[in-house]
Amino acid sequence: MKFNVDKNVCIGCGACQAICPDVFEIEDDGLAAATNEATDANIEEAKDAAQGCPVGAITEEK
Ligand code: SF4
Repeated sequence: MKFNVDKNVCIGCGACQAICPDVFEIEDDGLAAATNEATDANIEEAKDAAQGCPVGAITEEK
């Protein structure tokens, strides 16, 4: 499953990377990106990260 981070919304708090570093990474611009697709091994973490984003910047890609 793929996730998207809306960089116009992200505030760079780092929570998603802390919860699921396999999928989310803070980039050089200080904002998060979904750098890898989630796998069976980390999908629950990735969903937790998406739900835990304080500004709702993370969405699942259909
Ligand atoms: S949790 Fe949300 S606001 Fe925080 S870095 Fe990740 S995408 Fe950005």
